[in-house]
Amino acid sequence: MILDTIAAISTAVGEGGIAVIRVSGVEAVPAVERMFRSKSKLGEVESHTVHYGRIVDPQTGEAIEEVLVTVMRGPRSFTAEDVVEISTHGGFISVKQVLDLVLRQPGLRAAEPGEFTRRAFLNGRIDLTQAEAVMDLIRAKSDRASAIALKQVDGRLARMIQGLRGELIELLAHIEVNIDYPEHDVEAMTADYIRTQCGKVISRVDELLRTANEGKILREGITTAIVGRPNVGKSSLLNALAQDNRAIVTDIPGTTRDVIEEYVTVGGIPLKLLDTAGIRETLDTVEQIGVARSRAAIVDADLILFVLSAGNALHEDERELLAQLRSRQCIVILNKSDLPRRLELEQVLEQMPEPQLVQMSVLQEQGLEQLGDAIRTIFFAGELESADLTYVSNARHIALLKQAKAAAADAIDAADAGIPIDLIQIDVRTAWERLGEINGENAGDSLIDQIFSQFCLGK
Ligand code: GDP
Ligand code: ZN
Repeated sequence: MILDTIAAISTAVGEGGIAVIRVSGVEAVPAVERMFRSKSKLGEVESHTVHYGRIVDPQTGEAIEEVLVTVMRGPRSFTAEDVVEISTHGGFISVKQVLDLVLRQPGLRAAEPGEFTRRAFLNGRIDLTQAEAVMDLIRAKSDRASAIALKQVDGRLARMIQGLRGELIELLAHIEVNIDYPEHDVEAMTADYIRTQCGKVISRVDELLRTANEGKILREGITTAIVGRPNVGKSSLLNALAQDNRAIVTDIPGTTRDVIEEYVTVGGIPLKLLDTAGIRETLDTVEQIGVARSRAAIVDADLILFVLSAGNALHEDERELLAQLRSRQCIVILNKSDLPRRLELEQVLEQMPEPQLVQMSVLQEQGLEQLGDAIRTIFFAGELESADLTYVSNARHIALLKQAKAAAADAIDAADAGIPIDLIQIDVRTAWERLGEINGENAGDSLIDQIFSQFCLGK
């Protein structure tokens, strides 16, 4: 299949430094060669080499930019096609000029969002889980999240899914052969084989699903509210967290929300902080902001960091809030523990019998590590799974894994009930198909369109 040649700016637009224009397809090398003045002849250079030169408008002879051009010939390239990348160091205008010039070449057109990755998929270089991982990688909000995505790009999940499909295909072949032998003992043997193979699939799918929740947390961050009365140290805590981690502010592309979310990591776990504007509020001596605003944030949070000051007796508002938070995932932070203790712990315990309690002094930079431990205890039963685990964190994968598991369980039930194997075959086939949809071996065009349309331009 020969596809037309596509081009787009592949780096984030508007940021200084270097911008890269990526061109992919059979016309990539000849098109760029036409506008490239250099000692190197792009048509003849070795693959994976970089060349210095000038981009010149071939019609007017006008010089536009000094650039570095990288040539990567297919199939050893990201898209498995010939790829040329033009690195420019200029601002947006000159990058745009170079791109316009490239797009004016015969046989070229602008790439759609995700189209480079889609080509890699269409050309068989990556499967769907890997393509989705590329997207996750672009959006990853913590080191760990990107480690998960990297593994997926690397094809780990793909190989596991392939392995499971292999088991099921063997089983399907076996059933096929034996359908024509209605003797009872053959039938019984096949039913046994169905039980073992489907049992294997179920237990491995279960293992994958167990990682799903943790994968989701690591990928999306724990939605967290920092609450407490004015002056207990919320802003200080936020600053300490942000400083440690270089707060990442993102607006997630493709969603209509215009809320800006802020991410920090604590002990490697990403937190998505709610209402940081409220916490940064400098006028929070005003009572109503403190508590009313806290209440709103609490509703949406998966984790609440309730900050108290050790230097003050428990306030009525705090007592009330503690009682409300009893049944929630809450960590009580006893801040300002460098000050003489005025707060009586018994009063806290009256409202919340078994709190996750962390003593802290933001001022003296103490307690952040314990805070990380407390979060791990709540969300990961104390331990983060080893980085070696393959995490499933994509909602689409999770849904399909569950469907595959249900079909495999149906097959086992049917075998137990003595249902004829040609009928059981349908369930086995369903399990095999659902797994195939995960890595795209069995995915329809509309699904593929939908997945790639979520990408940003130039990827
Ligand atoms: P917020 O109103 O809850 O956001 O509290 P701030 O973060 O604005 O802090 C209020 C005051 O408490 C500031 O003067 C901080 O410097 C001080 N503060 C914050 N953390 C500590 C701490 O651990 N120990 C002491 N002694 N003071 C602190
Ligand atoms: Zn504050």
